[in-house]
This record gives sequence, C-alpha cells and structure tokens, in this order.
Amino acid sequence: MGGSDGKSRLVPPLPPFPPIPPIFPRMTRAAPAPTLLDLTPDAAAEALSAWAAERKLPAYRVRQLLPRLWQRPVGSWQEATELPAPLRAELDRDFPLPRLAQETVQLSADGTRKYLWKLHDGELIESVLIPSGARRTLCISSQAGCALGCVFCATGRMGFRRNLGAFEIAGQIRELVLADPADKPTNVVFMGMGEPLLNWPAIDTTLTILNRPEGFGIGARHITVSTVGIIPGMDALAARPEQFRLAISLHAPSSARRRDLMPIEKKYPLEDVLRAAGAFRKRITFEYVLIAGKNDTEADADELVGLARRMGAMVNLLPLHPGGAPGLTPTAPLAIRDFADRLRARGVEAVVRRSRGLDISAACGQLRVETERKKRAVSR
Ligand code: SAH
Ligand code: SF4
Repeated sequence: MGGSDGKSRLVPPLPPFPPIPPIFPRMTRAAPAPTLLDLTPDAAAEALSAWAAERKLPAYRVRQLLPRLWQRPVGSWQEATELPAPLRAELDRDFPLPRLAQETVQLSADGTRKYLWKLHDGELIESVLIPSGARRTLCISSQAGCALGCVFCATGRMGFRRNLGAFEIAGQIRELVLADPADKPTNVVFMGMGEPLLNWPAIDTTLTILNRPEGFGIGARHITVSTVGIIPGMDALAARPEQFRLAISLHAPSSARRRDLMPIEKKYPLEDVLRAAGAFRKRITFEYVLIAGKNDTEADADELVGLARRMGAMVNLLPLHPGGAPGLTPTAPLAIRDFADRLRARGVEAVVRRSRGLDISAACGQLRVETERKKRAVSR
C-alpha cells in the first residue's frame, strides 16, 4: 500500500476556502428563466390545464400534452404531430421547450459515453453514461463548477460558476431520451460536476421529475445523491418520503486526514456529517478515492472499517483519476486490491469501481477542462 514514505504524507497548504454558495440561492447569475421543464409534473400539469381552460380546449388535450415533456419527450411542440398544427404553434410560443446543446460526445472503448453540454449562457457541463449489462447509469451535473475545492478534483479546481436550474439537470436525461429512447438511463447518480446539496431547490424539483411516473419514472432506489456532507441539504433530502439513496464522499477516515483533502471538513466536520447520515433509512455508501500516501495505508483501512461498520455503510473504492490533480498519484492497482480485501476481511462490503472511460477523461470536470485547454491553444 502507498504511504510508507514519510515525505508523501506532507500535504501542501490548503488554498483559501472560497465562499460557499447558500443552499437556498437567489438565482442571480445568468440563470435561465423558468420554463415548463423547470416544474414538477404536477405543477406543469396545472400550468397546462390553466392555459387549456383559457382556450376552452377539451380535457383530453392536457392529457396529450404532459407526456410530451418527459415520458415521450419532444424537442419542440412541432414534433407532437398528434396535435393540430395551430395548437402546436401556440404551445411553441407560450411554452417554448429549452434544450441543452451537445458540444461534444466521446465514446470510450469500454462503452462509456461522455457528453459535454453547452448552456444558454455558454457554460459547459458534463454527463457520463455508463452501460453495464442491462443497467445504464447516467452520472449528471448539478452545478457549473464547484466552490468546494477538493484537492483531487478537476471541477473543484475550476471554481464555482453557477447553479443549474431543474431543467438543466433533468435535461441531461431528456436529451439522451430525445436522441434515442433506448438510451434512457435505468439509474441516475448525482456525481458529475458540482455539489448537489448546495443547489437544493433545483435538486428537490429534479428528484421529483426523475421519480414520478409522469416524469421519467425512475425508482427512488435507483437514484443516488452524492455529497461531501452539506448537512442542511442532507436533512432536506432525508425529510423526503421517497427512499433516494445517499452517497457520502468520505475520502479519509478521520477529520484530521479529511481536512487535507477536502476544505469543507472545516465547515461540516465528519462526526456531524455521520450524525446527519443516521437519518437515512436506506443503506448509505461511502465514496473513497484512493490516493497514494494520502489515505491508503493499512491504518486508514482499519479506521475506515470502524466508520463503515458503525454506519452500516458499504464502501465504493475509486482509483484516483490522474487528470483531476497533477500533484497526486493513484494508489497502485495491487494496493487497491489489498485495501479492499482488508475491508472485506473485517466484514465491510467494499467494491472497487473500475475507472470507466479512462481514455475519454471520464471523471468529474475533466472533459470541460480539456475542451477549454484545447480552445485556448487554438486561439493563441
Ligand atoms: N460534489 C459531490 C458530487 C460530485 S463529485 C461529491 O463530491 O460527492 C462525484 C465523485 O467524483 C466524488 O465521489 C469525487 O470524489 C469523485 N472524483 C472527483 N475527482 C476525482 C478524481 N480525480 N478521481 C476519481 N474520482 C474523483
Ligand atoms: Fe466539488 Fe465534489 Fe469535486 Fe469536491 S469532489 S470539488 S465537492 S465536485
């Protein structure tokens, strides 16, 4: 295992902690105007019913419109050919359906697909589709950039740009379904760019859109919110009646070690985060990126066992994607196996996540960083 070399334990001084955006933000920076696609299915049905009533349209018309938002989505109302042409024109005028522009899509040799989407104000966000047998997991972004500056993360290094609206988050799924309904994800994880629980109002609505039968109809147990431990957001998520899954980005087994990797530890200390996680009825997951000499010793594994057993958590071990942090080294594959075996031998369920799509920079924030680097090189 890494970490035997005393020098590699030396951690560079932490960058100054950036201001954290509030969990209930006022959307000031270039947030798009809310549209039908920013509403929950119930609220969208209400808006459409009121509009139809003004026009004295028969009730069956509203029943025709709602499925075109998420269930059998259309790119614009013009495509809803079951509707009379004048009605389609009126809908396009009164309820334009926004889109995400596909900037690039990269296909990895292992079938992983990485999308870079351009938003109305030019911001770029990423989603990654990871097929595995009958399962298609889509990893989605919740913010453009991230304020939290974890030292191993490409998105963290980019800084915070802005929160995404509900349409921009759920739209990452909608665009896939529009291109090919067979690509509809079976599972969704909030593990793309950004910290979802610092954008709670939009995440709250998005979870409803993903889960409701009139939305995408994805079961709550197939939707995972990943967080570094934003406690007010965890409390809000735990208060929802559905059993969405929670993943905590742990990355170190003690508060002192975590501080070196994740500045947020100062605001929300590990013990408080674990207490808040106790409110979740479903089994939680610890995400743990293995970094040579930082968090991968036998002692680290043993401390992690203590936390996982206490919380009844399973552990996802992730090989460090080297693109996220030039100064850090991934733990060697054999040492990762030993680390996982040590957890398992002590009764903790541990999975080593394959680093999918390594050839297409498929880790948090890297495609955007790479695309911007190329653009700068071209404009020089
Ligand atoms: N902000 C949330 C969700 C997005 S990050 C969170 O941190 O949980 C999603 C996952 O990507 C996190 O578990 C994070 O540890 C992981 N990640 C970030 N940079 C990585 C890298 N360089 N290599 C491997 N995983 C990385
Ligand atoms: Fe933000 Fe998550 Fe990256 Fe940390 S790992 S900087 S919280 S996106």
